[in-house]
Amino acid sequence: MHDSGHPPAWHQATQAIRTGYQRTEQGEHGEAIFTTSSFVFDSAEQAAARFSGDEPGNIYARFTNPTTAMFEKRLANMEQGVGCVATASGMSAILSTFMALCEPGDELVVARQIFGTSVVLFEKYLGKFGIQVHFVDLTDLEQWQAACNSKTRYLYVETPSNPLTEVVDITKLAELAHQHSAKLIVDNCFCTPALQTPLTLGADIVIHSATKFLDGQGRAMGGAVVCADLADEQAIRGFLRTCGPTMSPFNAWLFGKGLETLNIRMQAHCQNAQILAEWLAAHPAVEKVHFPGLAEHPQYALIQRQQRGPGAIVSFVVEGGRAAAWRVINQTRLLSITANLGDTRTTITHPASTTHGRLSEQQRREAGIQEGLIRLSVGLEDPQDLIDDLARGLD
Ligand SMILES: *Cc1c(COP(=O)(O)O)cnc(C)c1O
Repeated sequence: MHDSGHPPAWHQATQAIRTGYQRTEQGEHGEAIFTTSSFVFDSAEQAAARFSGDEPGNIYARFTNPTTAMFEKRLANMEQGVGCVATASGMSAILSTFMALCEPGDELVVARQIFGTSVVLFEKYLGKFGIQVHFVDLTDLEQWQAACNSKTRYLYVETPSNPLTEVVDITKLAELAHQHSAKLIVDNCFCTPALQTPLTLGADIVIHSATKFLDGQGRAMGGAVVCADLADEQAIRGFLRTCGPTMSPFNAWLFGKGLETLNIRMQAHCQNAQILAEWLAAHPAVEKVHFPGLAEHPQYALIQRQQRGPGAIVSFVVEGGRAAAWRVINQTRLLSITANLGDTRTTITHPASTTHGRLSEQQRREAGIQEGLIRLSVGLEDPQDLIDDLARGLD
């Protein structure tokens, strides 16, 4: 086999297409999919050397697989990490990270505005193992500061947040973490490395749900953890080797192909989202639009510094509460009524009755999830067709 390797000077778009693949002696141009559970050794001596770690190489697909390694190397290079571990889903990426790196008694400080299932994982499951979680407001650095103490091991955020697109200064949060000998973990699902590279801003670990924009076509479940420190990557890989939430090679192949077009897709997502957000902002039936690409976003200056584009999540509040929001949703014919995001297809959701439906009314009010709020994940259809579809319910 021949490792294509990569000169570190390559730009991200080139890394996305040219790195990570080990071409076989067949000379194939596209990547092969290695659907094998185990790997054969030349001799008993070689088997022993592989197991002891004296000789690098594949052993068993729960540990490593060449197709999965292709995806891992590509994503690691795009995020500018030293290593990446691919997992069966975004949730197993989060679980594997904390199972591998935390001890009972450790404390986490976590933004309140994160993916709902991540909240359940932190409270219900990490809590069982004696890991304590403090929730704080994403944008309020004083709350972050006040929640940190000598037991704090990790700070955890999503930026921009879902669905209100609030952001936090990653550099400042990383500095705060490091002052407390803690590390900063960023779930970079919404921006992807095409729009934001948290490790270059001081974060230590990046989490992905590959299910979203990395695949970008709603085809498969997967996740990834990208690390700035090789020791973290090794610890997480050790957890997967033992506990098994590994990515299937077929999914790794899909995600590897997804990365090849990620930059160009994210640019198109951002353009469509910008057109929709501006149209919504000018519509008389719309009270408010939450979108990082609008100059009236309260953190517009930070977004311009930190992100290379606004992303594709647009949320807006219609006059008339839940009845009006449901009417807009029910009048659509093109948009998909689904909670998924990061697809070529535009999706529409009513957060108060779906993703945030488990919260009490007061919790929802505190989180800013109004009854009239609608979330879009803007896809790659022609924006005029999207506008026409939304106009039917709004006009
Ligand atoms: C979807 C999502 C996850 C979970 O990923 P799965 O692949 O569905 O397990 C985690 N974080 C964010 C921000 C997400 O949107």
